[in-house]
Amino acid sequence: MKAYCFKCRKQRNVKNVEHLLLGSGRRAIKGICSHCETKVYSILKDVEPEPPPWPYPPDLAPEVHSGFEHLTPPTPTVHG
Ligand SMILES: [Zn+2]
Repeated sequence: MKAYCFKCRKQRNVKNVEHLLLGSGRRAIKGICSHCETKVYSILKDVEPEPPPWPYPPDLAPEVHSGFEHLTPPTPTVHG
């Protein structure tokens, strides 16, 4: 987990991470900069799930199997 440390003025790894729920419903983390031990906070951005691609691009379209491909015609029996 990383957060911006104002003392280091850099993104730093955070230790002792605690997850917070802010009043507005947003989520944040609180922790300690692993470099200088300063308290750091980071507000987590809400990540919206990507919508599925539609219509499918031709090379990604699911293959349609009729179910008859594997059937072979009966071999004729020769009486003689
Ligand atoms: Zn720091």
